[in-house]
Amino acid sequence: MGNCAIVGINWGDEGKGRMVDLLTEKYDVVIRYQGGGNAGHTVINEYGKFALHLLPSGIFRRGVVNILGNGVALDLENLWTEMEQVRSQGVEITPESLRISDRASLLLPWHRQLDGLEEARLKDRAYGSTKQGIAPFYSDKYQKKTLLAGELFDREALKAHAAQLLEWKNLTLTGVYGAEPAKLEDLMAWLDDFGGKLKPFICNTTKVLRDARAAGKSFLFEAQLGALRDLDFGIVPYTTSSNPIASYAPVGSGLPGVAIDEVIGVVKAYSTCVGEGPFVCEMFGEEAERLRKAGAEYGAKTGRPRRVGPIDLVATRYGVEMQAATVIALTKLDVLSDLAEIPVCARYELDGKEIDEFPFPTLLDRCRPVLTSVPGWQQDISAVRRWEDLPENARSYVAMIEKAIGCPITYVSVGPERDAYIYRG
Ligand code: GDP
Repeated sequence: MGNCAIVGINWGDEGKGRMVDLLTEKYDVVIRYQGGGNAGHTVINEYGKFALHLLPSGIFRRGVVNILGNGVALDLENLWTEMEQVRSQGVEITPESLRISDRASLLLPWHRQLDGLEEARLKDRAYGSTKQGIAPFYSDKYQKKTLLAGELFDREALKAHAAQLLEWKNLTLTGVYGAEPAKLEDLMAWLDDFGGKLKPFICNTTKVLRDARAAGKSFLFEAQLGALRDLDFGIVPYTTSSNPIASYAPVGSGLPGVAIDEVIGVVKAYSTCVGEGPFVCEMFGEEAERLRKAGAEYGAKTGRPRRVGPIDLVATRYGVEMQAATVIALTKLDVLSDLAEIPVCARYELDGKEIDEFPFPTLLDRCRPVLTSVPGWQQDISAVRRWEDLPENARSYVAMIEKAIGCPITYVSVGPERDAYIYRG
């Protein structure tokens, strides 16, 4: 078994969590390599329903080692709260099943505070941040002004470093935003509390991965969000502040040279988008509301109604390329079952010309969707488990997407449950 990355092709919320949950049994190590608690994977399995934010989805499988790599935004408090929540539903989490990189930077309470202050300052120009502190956190990481998880093991040195950062951070809090200055006692109390609880899980995860590789173990890399939210290749500035693309996985996990043999790109059978920014294929009104309801499209973290639209073949083809996907998992096909005609965004129109290449981000506001439609199948497909048992129109819809994006659709998901999928091996 080679190594695999499961990544989002679009705006996020494609259903990556359910694919990781499905496939973890084939892998020995599951690794989160970027992002923080600002998005959520929804997983439904024998323990119940979960909205995971930072924990890798392999946490439900016994014997799987789950790693939070150096690339994640490590919010100790949120992580601990999430661990307690998951444990309360009967899932065991031990220092053997969860390992946290000592090189992961800590997302501190002031990052969350700054996120809120900046969004408030921007008012109607806000980016639609989930206010989890992700952007201020990654900015500080690039400025080399964060604490590393491994520093929790030397309290005196940690306190001295925290004091330096606090002095610097208070210039921004008070001078730029007119907020109250942060206090060292409060920060240390927070670090002592949550750092103390999580220290047993923190270790040199590069070594864990190196040893696992030497022992022939297989890795599953789990991304948050999707290609269109990638800091370098997404719809800037409506992106996240890290790199959800698969090629960042080796860096953010802690073993830069590790090979990824398969990239499973997760694509939803229609489009959804949380937050602000251009969303060319967006639908409005009653049609949109029906799709939103049918697909239960409300944010896992925020509960916000998601913006919805037909599948966007222009954006999806671009996402497949940026993720270097080798196969596709198409999710939520069942949600379209009621439609007599299924709308498809085949191309964009930009300044009177039709284009099929995803344009530079600032041009997206001028793009209009060129819509076509294909006939629906109008029957329940949620119990179908074999490709040949899908209605012909459903198969044609999948084949049409496959052709347009140039990548084989190997998994077709027809329900949220673990076994509700079709494998086209
Ligand atoms: P992620 O962040 O990419 O994991 O996406 P979400 O957490 O937003 O997951 C998508 C939602 O759709 C979750 O509530 C899943 O349980 C659900 N889901 C995933 N696949 C399917 C599917 O094939 N059909 C239906 N009806 N729901 C699905």
